[in-house]
Amino acid sequence: MIVILKKNAEEQKVDVLRQWLINQEVDIHESIGEYQTIWGLVGDTSKIDTDLIEGLDIVEGVRRVSEPYKQANRKFHPDDTVIDLGNGIKIGGGSFQIMAGPCSVESREQIIEIAKAVKKSGANILRGGAFKPRTSPYAFQGMRAEGLELLMEAKKETGMPIVTEIMDASHIDLFENVDIIQVGARNMQNFELLKELGKLDKPIFLKRGLSGTLQELLMSAEYIMAGGNTKVILCERGIRTFETATRNTLDLSAVPLLKEKTHLPVIIDPSHASGIARLVKPMSYAAAACGADGLMIEVHNNPAKALCDGPQALTPEQFDEVCRGVEKIRNAIKED
Ligand code: PEP
Ligand code: MN
Repeated sequence: MIVILKKNAEEQKVDVLRQWLINQEVDIHESIGEYQTIWGLVGDTSKIDTDLIEGLDIVEGVRRVSEPYKQANRKFHPDDTVIDLGNGIKIGGGSFQIMAGPCSVESREQIIEIAKAVKKSGANILRGGAFKPRTSPYAFQGMRAEGLELLMEAKKETGMPIVTEIMDASHIDLFENVDIIQVGARNMQNFELLKELGKLDKPIFLKRGLSGTLQELLMSAEYIMAGGNTKVILCERGIRTFETATRNTLDLSAVPLLKEKTHLPVIIDPSHASGIARLVKPMSYAAAACGADGLMIEVHNNPAKALCDGPQALTPEQFDEVCRGVEKIRNAIKED
């Protein structure tokens, strides 16, 4: 349920209503906008008499929210959520960011060379997997804790914030200096992990599961938000369909649909979505054109020798071209 308060509502009466609602055992999530204040009520609101609240002179209106996701719902929070990473790097609400780097951290030289290259092209956030979710137990599993240390070195060297994937809640302490924690597609519905991440005060990059619906993605975001961590970034990275020509099928309609349903930023990952390096440029352009808040792109200094996901990795030169094109598209669709 949401309660819309009138602009300039009398403070004392607002406090009385707040206390009354708390006594009804609901949590109030306040969203103060430019024109109105909205209270999103979470809990059992079924016994609350909406007519009673609507009749108060401080209340503009009351609406029941039928969707199961509440805090992620745009009805609860009409303004876009903006994730602020400091140093002027923001995601959402019109701020577009490109996250780039290798699928996996492979060595000090590799991650630092790639970090410097992608930064020069305009990426503000460095990606790199340390803990890798691989289909085969015999495949390279990532450099794990050592990989995280190398990411920290790259951060120190370039000043770029880091996004990297967590696979197990028992590793949370290792991620203390990571700027954005990624939840990979395979863990989108690892609810125990999501609950633990909900206790942190750190942005969470939540990827859509291979067979996750948009509602399921939003419910997973809700798990994190229900714990108190509202800094969630959503990522569409392709879903599994009958099509085998691409690694996954990029669901671009997810961008405008998610933007209607939620206030959270939406990022497109064209690398995992297509699995084919030459498709990354056109898909990045399409993502920028349909309103995504950013991109996550895999870049490798030697894709042919990459230990993971080489066929979808761009060279730094190809990445530079994508960045320049994306900028042109963004300028072309800018509203006056
Ligand atoms: C990744 O970003 O390297 C990754 C494993 O992605 P996904 O979870 O989308 O497969
Ligand atoms: Mn990858």
